[in-house]
Parts: sequence; C-alpha cells; structure tokens
Amino acid sequence: MSEKAPARGEHSRTGARSVVGKRRSLASDHEATATGATFDLPNSVRSVIALQRTVGNQAVQRMLQPIQRVAAGEHKVVDDEPPVQRQMVLRIQRITPSFVAARPAPKRSNTDSSTTTVKEQAFTGKVTEDKSAGQYGYELETFQSNGEIQLVYYTEGHYPAPVPDDDSGALSNVSKTNWKAVADDLHANRTGIGGKWSAYLAEPLHENYHWNVEWVGALTPEIAKAETALKTVKADNKSPLNQVIVQTNAAGIVGNAVKAAKKTYKALGDSPGDPPYIAQAPAIDALEKRVRDEAAAKSW
Ligand SMILES: [Zn+2]
Repeated sequence: MSEKAPARGEHSRTGARSVVGKRRSLASDHEATATGATFDLPNSVRSVIALQRTVGNQAVQRMLQPIQRVAAGEHKVVDDEPPVQRQMVLRIQRITPSFVAARPAPKRSNTDSSTTTVKEQAFTGKVTEDKSAGQYGYELETFQSNGEIQLVYYTEGHYPAPVPDDDSGALSNVSKTNWKAVADDLHANRTGIGGKWSAYLAEPLHENYHWNVEWVGALTPEIAKAETALKTVKADNKSPLNQVIVQTNAAGIVGNAVKAAKKTYKALGDSPGDPPYIAQAPAIDALEKRVRDEAAAKSW
C-alpha cells in the first residue's frame, strides 16, 4: 500500500487524479459532480463546461507550481548562486596600493643627481570577527606608498635648448661650429651619465622608471602576498585583548612585505646601460635628431 502511494510532491505535479480528484476544479474528462453522479448534457454545454474546467485547471495548476517546486527540491539548483558571490567578495578584498610621489620644483646642480626616494608606507585595516568560528581575523583595507622625485638639472649651458626645461625651446646653444660635437656627445651617452651635453627630459624619464616601474613593480606583488598571509592571522575571540595580537601580527606581515619590496627594489641595477638609463634614451635621441636636423636645415 505504501509502495503505491506516490510521494507528496508527485501528487501535485501529475494532476489531481488520486488525491484531489474529487475536487471539481481538478476533475478531468468525466462530467462528475462532487457526489460522482453523471448527467446527460447537450454537446454545446458540455464543451463550454469543458473549456471552463480546462481554464480553471490551468489556473489552479499555475497556483500550485511554486508549491510543486519547493516540494520537489528543484530550487536547490538556483541556490548555486552564492559561490559566485563569494568569489566577487574575495576580489573586492584584494586592495590596490596607491602610490603617491611628491614632485618638488626641479633644482639645478652640476654635481648633485636627481633622486627618487621611497618614503613612508602607510596602511589601514580592521580586526574582523568570525563568531561562528570563535576567531578574530584581519582585513587589509588600504595601502599607500609615499615617495618623492626630485629632479636636478645641470646648468643651462649643458642643454642644446636651454629654455624652457623640456628641450622644446630654441637650440640657442648650438652653432655651426659645435653642432656635431653636441650631437655626437648626446649619442655617446644616450643610455649613460650625461657628458658635456644632456636632455632635460632624460631626468624625469629616468626617475619615473625608478618609481613607476621598479618600485611599483616591487611593492605591488608583495602587498598581494601579504593579503594572502593576512587571511591566516587568527586569534581566539574569547578575549577582546586578542584583537591586539591580531593587529600586531598583521603589522608584522605588512612590515615584512615592505622590507621584501625594498630589498627587491634596491637590488635592481642603476648603472649606465641598465633599464633606468635605457628608459631615458628616447629623450636624448629626440634632442640629437633636433640638433642634426637643425644643422642640415642650415647647411652647416
Ligand atoms: Zn637611477
């Protein structure tokens, strides 16, 4: 007996025959009343009643559908959404460090160099609490890396176009007698330390390489690694004092990340021919071309 009885959900899905078959609205082919008596009706009336019942049955079935789905358990498929949301949350938690380099007004000196200085590093984060696990954790929220780029130009006599300080001015330091020496000297030191002649724009290209490529490139992956390591920082939440332990451990991880980034950054070559010097070459090449073009135009 129990074997033949379909499950509750199947009843409502397959129609009303056995369980709700005696409800008029769900009766199918037979012209049956609630008592089961059958009457002889004209075909036209019969078809109208049949239509009403069909419509009525559809309406009832529509009303039953949500109940069917809950009962059948198919809504669990829809519940697969949350894992996608969790991945999005993880992505949001990955912070992007901000890099802020102050750029004071350029100076002039024939002995001092331009400098790129990595200064203070600052971060914010918060102690989190996982009540179900009974633990405190830590979440990094922001990281800001501060620095300063001080450009130092030679005195004006070292630049073919001395004014303004971007190589765009008149080539007033170039003449029929020195143009070849100027162009050759620029060319000889295009990826090295300036000789007698130089290009203004070589300075920012070189220093920007230190900051934008080398320092950003050294620090960013270390902060990403630190974020991963910070997820393992846990402390029992039974004592609120353990929040301090979490904060201290987090600060240690972030501190080590900065240390590792600085080590990587310092190890990068900064001698003639190394990438920062290669980065400055386009400015020198452009100025050399200006000088040679000027000489050609004036038939020197
Ligand atoms: Zn350098």
